[in-house]
Amino acid sequence: MVADTDGAAYTDTVRRNIDCARSAMTSAAERSGRDPRDIALMGVSKFQPIEAICAAFNCGLKLFGENRVQEREEKSALWTGDGAVWHMIGHLQRNKVRKAVALFDCIESVDSVELADSIERIISENIEVLYPILIEVNVSGESSKEGVPPEVVFVLLEDILERCPHLTVEGFMTIGPNVSDRRAIRESFVSLRNLRDEARKRFGIPLPHLSMGMSGDYEIAIEEGSTIVRVGTGIFGLRH
Ligand SMILES: *Cc1c(COP(=O)(O)O)cnc(C)c1O
Repeated sequence: MVADTDGAAYTDTVRRNIDCARSAMTSAAERSGRDPRDIALMGVSKFQPIEAICAAFNCGLKLFGENRVQEREEKSALWTGDGAVWHMIGHLQRNKVRKAVALFDCIESVDSVELADSIERIISENIEVLYPILIEVNVSGESSKEGVPPEVVFVLLEDILERCPHLTVEGFMTIGPNVSDRRAIRESFVSLRNLRDEARKRFGIPLPHLSMGMSGDYEIAIEEGSTIVRVGTGIFGLRH
């Protein structure tokens, strides 16, 4: 049975939340002298029903993030959502890479050369394709977080550039620190931006994307250069 995907029950709330997020994003961009069009709003749809995702899509949201391959796979069987773009934002096990590259347009959570090698091996089966990835950086150093420590990023980037000709590293992703101190959150986003600027110089590649900022901190992230904000509860409400 295919889910009822008209999403009528969700549309009002989701539309209101998306409108709200977009206007907060525009204000944050303008405050920091940026063009709001340079920042993408991602709907993080983990644990959300397909009807809610469909409602968001019908309200004009085209970029979605999931953090588990299996959940993405189950949802893809219910709703194709032609034109939607999916990013993998959770920890990826190497034995799920083949499924992941088939189900996602970008993997934002690359955190080891072994994982990059696995993606490269599968992508290189089709010689014409380049596959976009981001490197996940654990800027805050919190032990609960995935991602490579900042001091290892350049080594990993160098390895990927050398060994993975079918991957394009589009930039860095991070999860802000789990603290209430707004200044600490800002510092962590500034650190990721500085790391990106340094990597640009060192490797001479554009690294256009900084994926940073979630429901609680995306305005700060935009002020500090984010190009992708990953908003879950702020769009869909509490996770089911
Ligand atoms: C869940 C999740 C988000 C969204 O979190 P919210 O606080 O609900 O906006 C963003 N990024 C990652 C990597 C996540 O796992």
